[in-house]
Amino acid sequence: QRNVVTVGKGFAEAAKRLQMEAEDKANIIPKLRVESRRKYLEKRKGDKITELEADIFDDEYLFDEQQLTERERKDREYKKKILSLAKEHDKARELELVQRYHMPDDKRDKAMPDRYVEIDDREKQPHSEQRIWEDARMATAQWNFGARDAKQRLQEKGKVHDYDLLLDDTIDFVQTNQLAGTKGIEDQPEVSDIQKKKMSLQETRKSLPIFPFREDLLQAVEDHQILIVEGETGSGKTTQIPQYLYEAGYCKDGKKIGCTQPRRVAAMSVAARVAQEMGKKLGNEVGYSIRFEDCTSERTVIKYMTDGMLLREFLSEPDLQSYSVMIIDEAHERTLHTDILFGLIKDIARFRPDLKLLISSATLDAEKFSDFFDEAPIFRIPGRRFPVEIFYTKAPEADYIDACVVTILQIHVTQDAGDILVFLTGQEEIETALESLTERTRRLGTRIKELLILPIYANLPSDMQAKIFEPTPPDARKCILATNIAETSLTIDNIIFVIDPGFCKQNSYNARTGMESLVVVPISKASANQRAGRAGRVAAGKCFRLYTAWAYKHELEENTVPEIQRVNLGNVVLLLKSLGINDLIHFDFLDPPPHETLALALEQLYALGALNHMGELTKLGRRMAEFPVDPMMAKMLLASEKYKCSEEIVTIAAMLSVNSAVFYRPKDKAIHADTARKNFFSPGGDHFTLLNVYNQWVDTDFSTQWCFENFIQHRSMRRARDVREQLVGLVERVEIDMVSNKDDLVAIGKAVTAGFFYNTSRLSKTGGYKTVKHNQTVLIHPNSSMFEELPRWLIYHELVFTTKEYMRQVIQIENSWLLEVAPHYYKAKD
Ligand code: ADP
Ligand code: MG
Repeated sequence: QRNVVTVGKGFAEAAKRLQMEAEDKANIIPKLRVESRRKYLEKRKGDKITELEADIFDDEYLFDEQQLTERERKDREYKKKILSLAKEHDKARELELVQRYHMPDDKRDKAMPDRYVEIDDREKQPHSEQRIWEDARMATAQWNFGARDAKQRLQEKGKVHDYDLLLDDTIDFVQTNQLAGTKGIEDQPEVSDIQKKKMSLQETRKSLPIFPFREDLLQAVEDHQILIVEGETGSGKTTQIPQYLYEAGYCKDGKKIGCTQPRRVAAMSVAARVAQEMGKKLGNEVGYSIRFEDCTSERTVIKYMTDGMLLREFLSEPDLQSYSVMIIDEAHERTLHTDILFGLIKDIARFRPDLKLLISSATLDAEKFSDFFDEAPIFRIPGRRFPVEIFYTKAPEADYIDACVVTILQIHVTQDAGDILVFLTGQEEIETALESLTERTRRLGTRIKELLILPIYANLPSDMQAKIFEPTPPDARKCILATNIAETSLTIDNIIFVIDPGFCKQNSYNARTGMESLVVVPISKASANQRAGRAGRVAAGKCFRLYTAWAYKHELEENTVPEIQRVNLGNVVLLLKSLGINDLIHFDFLDPPPHETLALALEQLYALGALNHMGELTKLGRRMAEFPVDPMMAKMLLASEKYKCSEEIVTIAAMLSVNSAVFYRPKDKAIHADTARKNFFSPGGDHFTLLNVYNQWVDTDFSTQWCFENFIQHRSMRRARDVREQLVGLVERVEIDMVSNKDDLVAIGKAVTAGFFYNTSRLSKTGGYKTVKHNQTVLIHPNSSMFEELPRWLIYHELVFTTKEYMRQVIQIENSWLLEVAPHYYKAKD
């Protein structure tokens, strides 16, 4: 290690000393030279240079070349050479730092040890492990909820380091085991995506694992009404089965094939792919339907949709008469809507013997589904997977985003060709990682090969999404930063390396307090193995888990808890009630929700006036069920009729549905962004601020430039506009006129209160707020326009739990309104 000095500190002193000396030796060193040297030093003030460089410097300025002895000249040459080497070395330093940690060496023997590596001593201490794990969780929770400020504060406290500093930490990976494959390491790799590009689409279809089983599968569908289909991700279930069925004539009598997806992105992307394979225009024969967006037509015969949309279709078509086949895809994801669909569809199958039902899932839970569907046969598509070597970190990583970035570069520098897939929890994290990775690769410049960094998450525009399927150019490497969507819903070919930090974002619901929050939690073992499996599709792969083997064994649950057991059921209960299902306790659930959650949902619907005291749907409830939104939001929309402000309320509802993504705050312009945001603040609260943003945008004729100048995310605004359009349609369907009442803040406030009175909180004597329902301490989110106002009463749109319980999007109200809008729920104190 060479000593480094900073110009301007020791060096400036040296310069001064030199000058003094120079004055003594005026005859040796011309004054001029000292002067120029001083200027030079001034210019480089603050630069880090080595002692050696300083030495040479002194040397050159003190002694004239001509006056040197041979030996001294040689010495100087030598020093210079060392310096230039040192500089080269400095350049390479970043690379070298990355290379410091243990990674498998591709050049070495490929045989894998089949024993477990000794677990590090540090890992044997459960408490330290847990503490660090929790810290990491806390840190990320803080980052995930827009609290960039919190991140900054941490940075100031020195708890979050700059990437440069972090790079000095080494991540030690240890290999412990491997995920067995059906293929050996030496087996021929599957066709790569470049080869695939050369193949015709039809040839590609034939290369998929499911293809040899086409006839058997069709036969099985013919023979059985309900079939469970199980196969590795990427075997072709989602894209091929509907096409096979179509080709086999299941759409002949004008009926459709439906296929549900738990995620919007997957529904859109897969529909686009299938349309392409069939040579049709998306939206014609092949279409998709997601909330607030219907891309189907009269001609549509293969329809991909989110599971939530199929649920809503039950409202208009309770027997699904227009479908000949329904595929519940990605069943293993166990989303709330999929779970409800299981019960409904099982029931329908009984009185519609002509309806074919396929439950398709990755290699998980097939037996459970079979049991539920009266011992339906399981059709297994034999897996084609190469083994995947699994690596764990030796010690827990406190900051997994940094760890990801470092690992990506490490793979890029040390490993053979093959794309990288990284699992992050959400858009914000992906953007942070993207930023840091871009910055670092830019700094490394041409010293590394090209690294294409591509994000994929639900809100990404679809043209950007399509990029992840484009083949990687030769000599480059693709690195995909994805949310959970890449776990099983989307198959991306050519992935050889998976980086798994071990977290995902999950809804969590406290039935006691009715508090819902999105939190970052450790994934389950099943999830971890699905993720690892993504690395073995085309050749033997490697999975880098950014947690320890100890954590995997002791901290991860076996399976993810199904969503139905951890979310607010208000919406679903309303829907089921409007389908005439009154006895929810005896509904056929695959896994029943906790009793308290059901009870709370019923209570809330009663409070909103959607159910009567017998638990039956009221007229209001029936109207509320028309809206594919939270019951409180639906109630607010309906209340806009009474307060004659439907235009404003619809805008507010649309903006709330994209709320966290409206304002944009780039790090380097944070102050400008904050000022811009504050300029939109409107009296009364955040709802009015959002309304103001939207209306100003309308006034600019939906200008992109305006968004840009005001640090508003144009994409979110466009989405708000789409959502608004859909809501207007729905509002008109329940025969509410669109009327504006934009100056009547009280009317608008009352309409909001009519929907969200459940979320009331009041200023407490000790400062801070208490929720009215549970007397729980909550705070106004620092981003709110009410942050410094502290009104006595307010209503929040949502609570987010980060370090504290924050209310996000708050509106000031009068307590007398509560009596007016919810007389059966609030009573005047006497
Ligand atoms: P499964 O549902 O069994 O996981 P899929 O049907 O989703 O499998 O995927 C089968 C193949 O189709 C994969 O090789 C995948 O890469 C390819 N594929 C799916 N969607 C797209 C798309 N939008 N663009 C390009 N290829 C796609
Ligand atoms: Mg699929």
